[in-house]
Amino acid sequence: MSQTDRPARALYIAGEWRTGGGRVAQDVLNPATGATIGTVPHASAADLDEALAAAERGFRAWRETPGETRAAVLSKTAALIRERADALAAIATEEQGKPLAEARGEAIGAAAILDFHAGEAVRIYGRVLPRASGLRSMVLKQPVGPVAAFCAWNFPLLNVVRKLSPAIASGCSVILKPSEETPASATAILQCFQDAGLPGEVAQIVFGVPDEVSRTLLASPVTRKLSFTGSVPIGKHLMRLAADSVMKMTMELGGHAPVLVFDDCDLDKTLDILVAHKFRNAGQVCVSPTRFYVQDGIYDRFAAGFAERTRQVTVGDGSIAGTKMGPLANPRRPDALEAMIADARAAGAKVLAGGERGAGDGFFYAPTVLADVPLEAKVMNEEPFGPLALIRRFGTLEEAIEQANRLPYGLASYCFTENGRRQAILGDAVESGMVCINNVRTSWPDAPFGGVKDSGFGSEDGPEGIEAHMITKSVHIS
Ligand code: NAD
Repeated sequence: MSQTDRPARALYIAGEWRTGGGRVAQDVLNPATGATIGTVPHASAADLDEALAAAERGFRAWRETPGETRAAVLSKTAALIRERADALAAIATEEQGKPLAEARGEAIGAAAILDFHAGEAVRIYGRVLPRASGLRSMVLKQPVGPVAAFCAWNFPLLNVVRKLSPAIASGCSVILKPSEETPASATAILQCFQDAGLPGEVAQIVFGVPDEVSRTLLASPVTRKLSFTGSVPIGKHLMRLAADSVMKMTMELGGHAPVLVFDDCDLDKTLDILVAHKFRNAGQVCVSPTRFYVQDGIYDRFAAGFAERTRQVTVGDGSIAGTKMGPLANPRRPDALEAMIADARAAGAKVLAGGERGAGDGFFYAPTVLADVPLEAKVMNEEPFGPLALIRRFGTLEEAIEQANRLPYGLASYCFTENGRRQAILGDAVESGMVCINNVRTSWPDAPFGGVKDSGFGSEDGPEGIEAHMITKSVHIS
């Protein structure tokens, strides 16, 4: 079935698109207008059982498929995503709200991840250990088995590719449950894999009540790995469910990224980079810079410059040219932000920009800057996941490091300083899976992406992402 004649929102199980048939249908909304744009079917219990059976068969066949063939499918998928980038971007913007240019960039970034994994698919090696003659010891790497993957709505195209490509490169099969809020983005990506020649039983897509789907998939002996992108509480819940079946896990959980800005930074350049990065995807990014700790000497100029640039961010429907920030992805986000901002204001925070919801039926919230936010305020401790910057001052390097490390989160962190000695200390001392110094790029296909502490474990991308889908076996032959 081609891109145009399949249903836009459907389950994909055992090589066929499934919808209707008395299944529960959930509304899908356009966050810029609040209007319903379609429905997504929920998988029945029988659908999930069939998905598990198909994933088991898919794994048996795919693990025997040569790396070159797996690589060819991934490269072709990358090419198709580039070819269809405009159409994919339009789907993602309609379902998730981000500006079209960002959605297009997301598609192109997803293609780069696929190209990297195509290269890795033919570089899965083992080891032969030195032994006396007559004895041989080998270390083999083998695909772990069917993967149950769950991903969030914030990167509706790229999150899907991040789950599917390492599994497919390493010879695993997958059952993916993308977000019910961005289903057509996920199925359009899967169609690219299908058109590139991926056998039908290697990757299944299901939707449903998240807790019911995850309980079923994680209780099954077929599932050998859990891969999750989402919030810390749900991540912990899934780890508990997976513990009973003892499986491999990759957990990409939330963050609360600190930004340490020192007196000696290039202030204008730093502000330009940080304001753009803060409001990308309306701040709904796990690595979004959130707590801005600014050294005394530049604090006032930094806060004023940040607020001024923030007021210039054009907010609107992501499908309209010129929009720099779209709506939030669902009605939960403006509600959550409103409550967090009210709590921070009551605790004494000053509003330097924004601080209110947008008008209309869409899920808009103004880009917001709060200064002098007390540490007790909820937002200094819980992930805001929205267009909100929190600014506080610091004096010394030690103080800055202490503040950066004060939360249980440890995903991304950012430091701005021209001092080389300080850069080295920060790289060592800040507790996060990714530290960016004088830049904000955390995601590169060849570099591990992931967190420490409550932000999770088991990186995606880089050779580490493949390793996370393999088991290690020692074979000793006399
Ligand atoms: P949420 O934690 O309820 O959902 C996040 C994702 O997990 C969604 O796609 C959802 O469908 C899925 N999910 C929820 N319960 C699940 C379950 N029992 N089994 C399997 N999947 C399940 O939060 P939300 O309201 O959708 O998003 C807000 C929060 O999510 C934010 O506070 C942020 O921490 C987190 N988030 C993190 C990332 C990330 O990249 N780390 C991405 C998106 C959202």
